[in-house]
Amino acid sequence: MSGAFVRVALDSPLPTLFDYRCDSPPPSPGTLVAVPFGKRTIVGLIVEVSAHSDVPAERVRSVEAVCSACAPLSSEWLELVSFAADYYQRSLGEVALPALPQALRDPDRWPRLFAVEPRYRLTDAGRAALPDALPARAAALRRLADALAGGQVLGASDARALHPKAGATLAAWQAQGWIEAEPAAGPDGALDGAARSNGETSAAGDERVAAVRPALTDEQTQAVDAIAGAQGFAPFLLHGVTGSGKTEVYLRALERLFAARPDAQALVLVPEINLTPQFEAAFRARFAGLAGAEAIVTLHSAMADGERARSWLAAHTGRARIVLGTRLAALASLPALAMIVVDEEHEPAYKQQEGLRYSARDLAIWRAKQRGIAVVLGSATPSLESWWQAEQGRYRRLSLSRRAVADAVLPSVRMIDLEEERRRGRGSVDGISGPLVAALKARLERGEQSLVFLNRRGYAPVLACDACGWVAGCPRCSAYVVLHKNEHALRCHHCGWESRVPRACPECGNVDIAPLGRGTQRVEETLAALVPGARVLRIDADSTRRKGSAQTLFSNVHAGEVDILVGTQMIAKGHDFQRVSLVGVLNADAALFSHDFRASERLFAQLMQVSGRAGRSGLAGEVLVQTRYPRHALYHALGRHDYVGFANATLSERRDAQLPPFVYQALLRAEARTLDAAFAFLKAAGAALSDLPFAERVTVYDAVPMTIVKVANVHRAQLLIESASRASLLATLRAWQPMLRTLKGVLRWSVEVDPLDI
Ligand code: ADP
Ligand code: ZN
Ligand code: ZN
Repeated sequence: MSGAFVRVALDSPLPTLFDYRCDSPPPSPGTLVAVPFGKRTIVGLIVEVSAHSDVPAERVRSVEAVCSACAPLSSEWLELVSFAADYYQRSLGEVALPALPQALRDPDRWPRLFAVEPRYRLTDAGRAALPDALPARAAALRRLADALAGGQVLGASDARALHPKAGATLAAWQAQGWIEAEPAAGPDGALDGAARSNGETSAAGDERVAAVRPALTDEQTQAVDAIAGAQGFAPFLLHGVTGSGKTEVYLRALERLFAARPDAQALVLVPEINLTPQFEAAFRARFAGLAGAEAIVTLHSAMADGERARSWLAAHTGRARIVLGTRLAALASLPALAMIVVDEEHEPAYKQQEGLRYSARDLAIWRAKQRGIAVVLGSATPSLESWWQAEQGRYRRLSLSRRAVADAVLPSVRMIDLEEERRRGRGSVDGISGPLVAALKARLERGEQSLVFLNRRGYAPVLACDACGWVAGCPRCSAYVVLHKNEHALRCHHCGWESRVPRACPECGNVDIAPLGRGTQRVEETLAALVPGARVLRIDADSTRRKGSAQTLFSNVHAGEVDILVGTQMIAKGHDFQRVSLVGVLNADAALFSHDFRASERLFAQLMQVSGRAGRSGLAGEVLVQTRYPRHALYHALGRHDYVGFANATLSERRDAQLPPFVYQALLRAEARTLDAAFAFLKAAGAALSDLPFAERVTVYDAVPMTIVKVANVHRAQLLIESASRASLLATLRAWQPMLRTLKGVLRWSVEVDPLDI
């Protein structure tokens, strides 16, 4: 049959495009359309336009609406999502559609999303009358009037940035004939002045962030020159110790980029935007002069739908010059992309852990290659994958070996031998040793701040009975439940099951049941008792669940209202605490003996990061690590701030053991009603794989139950496959997928490429 047809990618696991009829004029590939799918209407992406369809005419339905207000996504973007779909073994639609903001995937919201807001300019009457009409003390009104008098044309959002109640004011002034609406100029009529003077620096509540440009250190200068001078695809590994001024390197490299190419766009990825407002503030302060109200936008999952869609569109139309975002921004549409920065590139947060399990860092590198541009991976503790690339000369290494602030030096690191403390009869109280308490007291006396870091692994505060050995477990999962003391609740962190804390042990009736191990809450209480007079603040996922609360808590620390800050990973990242001179580390040992081969890499990175919080502004910093293994190689390297030694030693262990990055891995996961069913599926899958071409270059392991084997009555198991050749692994996975689809007996299965947790 003939006519005009479009082939549309839909968010469906079926590895196919869907044909629809689309009459005049057929839109081009990359256009969003609303189409009927079953009984629903959903949004899809046109991938091809054709005069023919192989689907029988009576079965082809018609496109319901074309989103013509949104410029088509480029062929380059389609190529990016096609690559990701192929690499991560998904359908094109499963990658492309979730990469779009939710509001764009709802046709009912299109009209509002693309409505062009009216823009106002001053009339001659207004120019004459307005100055006298303003009340004496109305600063906000005056800002608005001044902007208009200066010749600016203001849209509603620009005006709101100058005056919160601008909507009503503009309406009143228009009624007076003092301002008039301009014919819509389209979304590109950017406004210079308004953006510069407005309150967009929402994250800049931190007054210490000024737009000062410090004189660069020699190492920073070399790094900036190398990045700014690069031609074509240029991957850099910026290895800089904590406090060495990596952010300044990004800022300068971008300054040079925009000076040379005023229309360029840059993508700056961070692991967690909410936790590092200082980082965003530095970008907003430095680039306040970029034209347009949307010159710098953020993109992350905690944003409201509409807000996120506006940021995404600003990137897509080129109005946004800097996109500062978390991993999901790696798939943003950026037509003029000219440089990419991946800060803290080693962070596991760059790996999406559900749905499409992609690595934002790896996609960023692919994009840089596709566009032939520079990509800067920054870290004090690069991932061993990236470090290995640099060792082989595939990434260019740039080193910042010293702290940037003149009198800031790296802290001294000392181990507190818990075994020795015990032998000498100086037991620790509730897991906090005497030397650590003494050091905390000394800081309190000097008016300096301390930070106590808990490695959360092995630290879940679970409820146990000393008399019979009972430990509170989830009735639905094979997991222990976590005690939330303040709420008197037990909660399963895997499936969400909840109950009240029992009065006595359900097994033996003993009433003396108590938490095993120490959660952050417990440590907070113990510290308050051991260091009288100290103001102790806990920051962790629980205490910061409310939106924005982490920022409030951190600003208390910056304001000096806290003496001892207690927390997990969250306090280790990126914060520039000026008055912290002591870091105490509790319970790091568990990770030394984990079944997960990446545990020690993560522990080392975390301890380097958290140590980096001490002594950043000239106070002599000290790190005290409580351990039973003070002579362990990892602690030895930590004590000497020796990332390079640690990385090279660990890489050679990985090479001997044939672990990543020397092999490539993928996981097949299965979820079923019984563990037997999951195993049967994986066994059949493994057998099917051995018949495939390339199979001899791929190793298939036995199926194993997952660490948390049962979640909400679903049993989970997985099968690891591995190859020394990435191409063979991918080719095998590609050929395997259709066979997997024919296997039955499980609720769900999925393939993950380059898994981080196995
Ligand atoms: P990193 O990200 O490498 O840990 P930051 O970018 O947070 O380091 O920089 C640490 C501190 O050093 C910040 O307070 C920053 O303003 C300051 N800084 C950076 N570069 C310089 C420089 N060249 N001279 C003086 N201070 C600098
Ligand atoms: Zn008991
Ligand atoms: Zn559970």
